[in-house]
Amino acid sequence: MTRSLSPRVEAVFWFLLTATGYFLLASLSLHATKGADNIAAVWPPSGYFLALLILMPPSARVAAFAGMVTASLSANLYGGAPLWSCLAFTFSNGCEALVGLWILRRREPGELSFMVPRSVVSFCVAAFAASFVSAVFAWGLAGKGPDFFLSWLTTVLLGMLIVTPPIVMLARMVDTNALTNASTAMKAEATAILTATGLVTILAFSQSQFPATFLPCVAVVAAAYRLGPFGAAAGMLIVTIIASLLTGQGYGPIAAIEGVQKARVLFLQFYLLILLFTTLPLASLLIGRQRLAKRLEQSNRWLLQAEAAALVGHWRVDLVGWTITWSDQTYRVHGLEPGMPVDVDYSVKQYVAEDRVAVRKTLEAAVRTGEPFEFQGRIRRADGEVRHVKSHGSIEKGRDGRAIGIFGTVQDVTETVENARILEAARSAAERVANTDMLTGLPNRRHTLAFLEKALARARDNGAPLAVAIFDIDHFKRINDTHGHAVGDRVIHRVGQRAKAALRDEDMLGRIGGEEFVCILQRSSAHAAEIVAERVRKAVEVGTAAEEGLPQATISVGLAVYDGDSDIEELLHRADKALYVAKREGRNRLRRAA
Ligand code: GH3
Ligand code: MG
Ligand code: MG
Repeated sequence: MTRSLSPRVEAVFWFLLTATGYFLLASLSLHATKGADNIAAVWPPSGYFLALLILMPPSARVAAFAGMVTASLSANLYGGAPLWSCLAFTFSNGCEALVGLWILRRREPGELSFMVPRSVVSFCVAAFAASFVSAVFAWGLAGKGPDFFLSWLTTVLLGMLIVTPPIVMLARMVDTNALTNASTAMKAEATAILTATGLVTILAFSQSQFPATFLPCVAVVAAAYRLGPFGAAAGMLIVTIIASLLTGQGYGPIAAIEGVQKARVLFLQFYLLILLFTTLPLASLLIGRQRLAKRLEQSNRWLLQAEAAALVGHWRVDLVGWTITWSDQTYRVHGLEPGMPVDVDYSVKQYVAEDRVAVRKTLEAAVRTGEPFEFQGRIRRADGEVRHVKSHGSIEKGRDGRAIGIFGTVQDVTETVENARILEAARSAAERVANTDMLTGLPNRRHTLAFLEKALARARDNGAPLAVAIFDIDHFKRINDTHGHAVGDRVIHRVGQRAKAALRDEDMLGRIGGEEFVCILQRSSAHAAEIVAERVRKAVEVGTAAEEGLPQATISVGLAVYDGDSDIEELLHRADKALYVAKREGRNRLRRAA
């Protein structure tokens, strides 16, 4: 407030502000309320001075105290009190300000806020301790009766509780531009509520026909509810000023109470105290709740934004009420309008029929075990499109450890699933190409030998019989030379087809060289292998002879049976040697290795 002033000007400023305000308020309350024994019903200067002490920089406190002493002495003398009383009262009021400030600094080292219930309690404690000390000094120094002590205590306490909060809050609002930034509607509402509070209080305290002292309470509670702690404090101030002035002038239901003046003042004081202790904590609790609600709303907005950005929705099943809630993004995943009513059954039915049982089972297992879960399935969107979705979830447990809810996320993973499928198709196509011989479409050498390696290992492990037959087209050079290379290729292809057709399902045929092939005959005894190999030879002989436009081709076959100790090279070598024998002995025949 006075940040830009030089220290001397600042001291003068606070001296004058304290002295003027204190003097005016003290004179006004002494004059207007005419309290018993020259004590006002409410002593606003105490609250005014404490508010200034809270707001001012520490360097200005000495000047402010000087101002307070000057103003207090003058006002009391002007009010007609004897000099000794003036000195005693001024000393007591000075001590009370010191005590109040000291307690507040200790309990609230940061900035005192009337928006936080804990700070409101601190303020009440400080105000009570200050008033108590003040009352002890004033009573002791002035040498009055016990009534005086109680009267002083309540007067000062009320002055602080009622006057300090609105001044501090108003000054903070001015400082933070909250007043200028407030919308016109808010300002209009505040003005209307506070004006109504004033009018209702005038109505209640200007007549004594109806004891309507409860009416201002309603107005102050309304001010607290709509305007928060500032509304409560400002409303209280308005009620206090009007009620004190009118009661002091002899108007209203309290002034009409029969008995001594002291009792009426005490009644007014307790009326104000009760009103104050009802509304101020209520207002700070309300503002706390409003802030919490705002924070909740904000974090909910952030959550929804994050979900929309990450394309992940969330849902929650209430297991007690058997209801389900979806977030906006969950609706979008299902192609539905956010907010449409949904239930658990409807949610499960979003999945295609084949996946529903799995979904139910996953959820049931999660509830039974309490373990987190994950599942992937297909949903049919509102537009009929089938999409893949993935859910992660966990179980919420109640205090007794029983499952009370299921919380889960849902994400459309169609693109990921589709990409994985394309990748897998490409991978298996590449593998097929890498393993296939282009001319015959049969497994190539690499793949055939890898297969044989595995078959050999299996045979070695479980003792199943295994045989290998190598065959080679007879006089193929001649076919190439006579009919050309292209016809030679077609003959290789045809021989492959014929041989393949003659084999059993469990056998494997591969091309391992120019016009050389290998048959891997699994789970075949030597005799059975021989029959199959002979069938192959025969099939080629007959088959290629029948082929129109292709020259006759025959093959020679060398068969080797796995004997338990040979490795792949040895097995093939033996088959090769048998093939060589078949060639040597005239071709178009089968020979078995020894
Ligand atoms: P044998 O009865 O002793 O086996 O006599 P052969 O003429 O068949 O002799 P060999 O098996 O050594 O001859 C293989 C020939 O096959 C040599 C090569 O020119 C030919 N050849 C190798 N690969 C291909 C191919 O992919 N297409 C064609 N058309 N010919 C091939
Ligand atoms: Mg050959
Ligand atoms: Mg050959």
